[in-house]
Amino acid sequence: MLDGPAGAGKSTVAQEVSRRLDLPFLDTGAIYRAITLVMLRRRIPAEDSPQLQDALRDFSVSFEGGAVMLGDEDVTSAIRTPEIDGAVSSYSALPAVRSALLGIQREQAKNGLVAEGRDMGTVVFPDACLKIFLTASPESRAMRRYEERVLKGEPADYGEILDAVNRRDGLDSGREIAPLRRAPGAILLDTTDLTFDQVVDRVMEYAEGV
Ligand code: C5P
Repeated sequence: MLDGPAGAGKSTVAQEVSRRLDLPFLDTGAIYRAITLVMLRRRIPAEDSPQLQDALRDFSVSFEGGAVMLGDEDVTSAIRTPEIDGAVSSYSALPAVRSALLGIQREQAKNGLVAEGRDMGTVVFPDACLKIFLTASPESRAMRRYEERVLKGEPADYGEILDAVNRRDGLDSGREIAPLRRAPGAILLDTTDLTFDQVVDRVMEYAEGV
């Protein structure tokens, strides 16, 4: 299980580790992003309401290959916009949202998996055989996001991205329910000065040691 703040490299690292271990990969942030997309489309505010409960009941997300599917619709790109980045932490702080998504996440874990998120080690999979808390300085995390956007040819402003990263960290760590925390027993891995390959190698060493 890999937890950590936005832009620490959890997703790319977890994908590579799952490939090497031949285990399914679960990107739980994508599930929170997908429900946020639904809420924004239906103009349902981030507070508990009958409309929010209905949307949670109807919510059906799946992963096909590398794609995130909402019913039949491929929302892989639609869930990775600055609009979703700005709204996701407000929806993910709601107890109704977290409890609805808990079952969806656990359902995926029947035969073992590599999962990444914010509360994998603390709440969703507390009995996991390996827990890693991946972190890096806010500046290097913002720089990674900036480079990702530039590579995709999207408009990018480093200062704005850094503010957004800091804002999301604050909301994710400060919320009452399932805040971003290093789980008891989780290994702390600071990736600020490590290359992608070095991070993957470290995680593989830990995985081989369990
Ligand atoms: O990992 P990613 O940046 O895609 O996550 C998007 C957002 O989803 C996070 O900022 C957080 O608010 C929420 N999230 C969460 N718990 C998880 C995974 C993501 O609250 N396990």
